[in-house]
Parts: sequence; structure tokens; C-alpha cells
Amino acid sequence: MLANSQMDKKIIEELKEKLEAEKKSLQKELESFADEDKTLKHNWDTRYPNREDGDKDEEADEVQEYDNALSLEYSLELKLKDVNMALEKIEKGGYGICENCGKKIDEKRLLACPEAKTCLKCGEKKKK
Ligand SMILES: [Zn+2]
Repeated sequence: MLANSQMDKKIIEELKEKLEAEKKSLQKELESFADEDKTLKHNWDTRYPNREDGDKDEEADEVQEYDNALSLEYSLELKLKDVNMALEKIEKGGYGICENCGKKIDEKRLLACPEAKTCLKCGEKKKK
């Protein structure tokens, strides 16, 4: 089993709290327009906007609305997945270690972004 990087227990607790809060707010946001897929882990399905009156202009709006919801769902879903994975790592070990280079992730980076999976260096490389 991988140990969590040699981080202060207090900091880990703080990060865990942040992640739990983040998880709750992401779930709440997703629940407002999507349903959690019970068969697929970390998957959500956007509900199709259901309007009573079906005139033509409204239909076009609905498609647009659905498209927007889908892309929002996708980004929220990804974020939630990262948050869940970070929480899992806190429990099982390996939290705070870069998935790319295996080095410790800077505490400051984790405090700013507790679900970070890579160190700053690797994260920047990925972006480019
Ligand atoms: Zn790295």
C-alpha cells in the first residue's frame, strides 16, 4: 500500500474537508439538471428539458439548453470524478503524489486545488 506523502495530518484533514464540501456542492449542482447513472460509476445523465408547451421556437431553445447542460454536466462530472479519486486516495494512500512523475505535490498546490493529480511541473506540461 502506498503511503500518503509525508504531509501533516492536520493538512490532510483540512484538504479532506475541502474535498467533501466540493463533492457535496458538485453533486448538488449536477442533481439540479441531471440524474446519476446507477450502473456506471462517476456517470451522470443530463435530463432533457421538459416543457409543457411545444411550439417551434421553444423547441430550438430546448435543444440549445440541452447542449449547454451537456457540456456543463461533462465538466462537473470530470471534476467530481477527480474529487472522488482524491478522497479515495486519502483513504487508501497515495494522496499528494504526482501521478505522472511520482514526486510529492506541493502542499500549496493542494491547498489551492485539493483534487490535483499531478505536481505543478507536470500539470503545466500537460496544458501545453
Ligand atoms: Zn509530477
